Amino acid sequence: MRALFLWAAGNRWLATHVPRWRFARRAVKRFLPGEGFEAALKAATDFKARGVGALFTLLGENVTDLADANRVVEHYEEVLAASAGVEAEVSVKPTQLGLDIDPDAAYANLLRLARAAANAKSFLWIDMEGSAYTERTLDLYKTLRAEHANVGVALQAYLHRTVSDVATLLPLKAAIRLVKGAYAEPAEIAFMRKREVDENYLALCAFLLPEVKRRNLRLVLATHDTVLIAKAWRFAQALGMERAHFEVAMLYGIRTDEQLRLAREGYGVRCLIAYGDAWYAWYLRRLAERPANMWFVARQLLP
Ligand SMILES: Cc1cc2nc3c(=O)[nH]c(=O)nc-3n(C[C@H](O)[C@H](O)[C@H](O)COP(=O)(O)OP(=O)(O)OC[C@H]3O[C@@H](n4cnc5c(N)ncnc54)[C@H](O)[C@@H]3O)c2cc1C
Repeated sequence: MRALFLWAAGNRWLATHVPRWRFARRAVKRFLPGEGFEAALKAATDFKARGVGALFTLLGENVTDLADANRVVEHYEEVLAASAGVEAEVSVKPTQLGLDIDPDAAYANLLRLARAAANAKSFLWIDMEGSAYTERTLDLYKTLRAEHANVGVALQAYLHRTVSDVATLLPLKAAIRLVKGAYAEPAEIAFMRKREVDENYLALCAFLLPEVKRRNLRLVLATHDTVLIAKAWRFAQALGMERAHFEVAMLYGIRTDEQLRLAREGYGVRCLIAYGDAWYAWYLRRLAERPANMWFVARQLLP
């Protein structure tokens, strides 16, 4: 099922047609407060009142025109200026900033966003996309990190290479958002079984947490896997880490009760709030993560 949904995520015909189907638009609402930024800002305001921070992301990837990438940058500049009150951070995809077209232009766009984030006293995260982009994304991040401290990058525990990427990033005082990984990758480069991915995730936490403490780095565990979070916390606790410095991030609409519980218990919690009309591929990746979500979609077909 996972492979089928991830194949559908990359299918052009479906990407053009599915977003026009009313039941699909109804189903996606579970993971988006709305398509416009205003709805995302309102959701962030509600979460802030309950102790959960926000991480905004405008949906969209693989832009084919640098003018579109420029519009994305301008949008985020406005978002950063408008969201100081909710202390939100932003997360961007390099291919949404033009990486497929011109890496130098993508870097210039990232630099603009890092500056805008610094001016707004916020933080810029770089999403990690499919493995075709891993090396280039890390190159962009390393160059950017040399100029700006308020930038972080996502790393995927399902990739074999991640442990060595961590080793090269640590001396740069990198901020890392650790995810399991959401794309279809071949067995030569990625762990295929959930158990292996989970074990690698925990092993990476065990490697990273002492460094986080020693070098005063930022590590965000971006997962809904509360069993893994609890195991990593026990490790962090043994290192003498405070709850507020143990950061967790989850997606809007998934395990909200757990997000609120962790925030109540004093952990640093952020909710990634996605918005925009380019939700098709992103939404299919959410279905791939939990095929049972398909039942929710099917219910939208009923009157
Ligand atoms: C803040 C954040 C940022 C992310 N950024 C990236 C990125 O830059 N690059 C990237 O490749 N991936 C990213 N991801 C996605 C990530 O890689 C996983 O695909 C996703 O988080 C699902 O895996 P999991 O860690 O929650 O663990 P899983 O083992 O998949 O899930 C644990 C439990 O969480 C619940 N759950 C998980 N997913 C869903 C869902 N879709 N619907 C309903 N319940 C669910 C289920 O109860 C499940 O049993 C991000 C995820 C988060 C939370």
